[in-house]
Amino acid sequence: MQEHVAPETDSPPVIYLDYNATAPLRPEALEAMLPVLRSVGNAASPHRLGQDAAARVTTARHQLADLLGCSPGELIFTSGATEANNLALRSAVARGGQLIISAVEHPAIRETAHALASDESGDPVVLPVDRDGLLDLDALQHALQSGGVALVSIMAANNETGVLSDLDSIVKIAHEAGALVHTDATQFVGRRPLELSALDVDLLSLSAHKFGGPQGVGALFIRRGTRLPQRPVLYGGGQEDGWRAGTLNVAGIVGTGAAAAAAHAKLGEESARTALLRDLLEEAILTRLADARINGHRQCRLPNVSSLTFPGAPADAILTAMPNIAASDGSACASGAVSPSHVLLAMGRTREEAECTVRFSLGYATTRSETERAARAVVAAVIQVRSDLVATARS
Ligand code: PMP
Repeated sequence: MQEHVAPETDSPPVIYLDYNATAPLRPEALEAMLPVLRSVGNAASPHRLGQDAAARVTTARHQLADLLGCSPGELIFTSGATEANNLALRSAVARGGQLIISAVEHPAIRETAHALASDESGDPVVLPVDRDGLLDLDALQHALQSGGVALVSIMAANNETGVLSDLDSIVKIAHEAGALVHTDATQFVGRRPLELSALDVDLLSLSAHKFGGPQGVGALFIRRGTRLPQRPVLYGGGQEDGWRAGTLNVAGIVGTGAAAAAAHAKLGEESARTALLRDLLEEAILTRLADARINGHRQCRLPNVSSLTFPGAPADAILTAMPNIAASDGSACASGAVSPSHVLLAMGRTREEAECTVRFSLGYATTRSETERAARAVVAAVIQVRSDLVATARS
């Protein structure tokens, strides 16, 4: 397994435990992209080089469809999950009606849903979750009762805690009320098996860089036959059947396809191994720091995520005290923001608990030795932060 080494040659290697922010590019994706980056061709050009590019895009579309268990024709390539989410929600509100989301959605859903609120649709309904991060299905049923709901958008797996949604039940309840279902599966794809021929969501978003593809490529799945008005985010040359104009990012899409194929081939092995290492990390930390707490439902969780609260030790201080461990205080997209995680607050944590929470996310290249070293570094960092705070309080 490869070790991730910081660019400065004299600094110790960084242990990368931030796969939910972005995963390292898979070697298969890099190998597939290099010849494309060296070649020329617009996938819309009729000449041979253009058609070669188009053929590469077709292969990648099949590879991604295989990972998802859908048809290649049901996939629209975008610049990422943010754009896919925007496209899904924009088009859904054009059906007329309200949006229903959960309190723990990523800003790419939350902000979009609020921005799209109009006089006719009203503000989105935001459903609560319990202390384990699980959606309140009774609240969903209740919100759908009055009718007039265009779309229910609930994430497949939470980016901060890894908590999984009961999508089968959500789909059943929403479809009975005539609403479409979208899921932001950005953190789920490539980490848990997915079979869209069995899971009846109408729309699904993903981002390639979370499963080892390049950054800046994503896709929106639109189930064939879904009655959805086309409301592009980008108008222009009509690529992707008019859903997403703009010259296709051939190299990025090829890398996405290769990463999808690799993730698909290794899914069972990678997910079992990552879960084992995640459990090892948690056990090693919790045996030394008995008051540390795991956030999120212990069983209904992605195999690679550990959200840990260390009472009395602020996450930013912990991260500073262990500069060779790449982890996250809250989600990467929100880092730098002063407000504590909306996900943890929605799960009933206090502001202080949220501020003392670190997210570790492992992945396909994480090793046992890295995990053991990281656990030791985390324990030392928390002990140091706590004793520094005691010393400061005394002085
Ligand atoms: N949704 C979720 C759940 C995410 O974790 C992320 C990335 N942090 C996004 C959407 C946005 O993905 P991207 O930035 O690649 O568009």
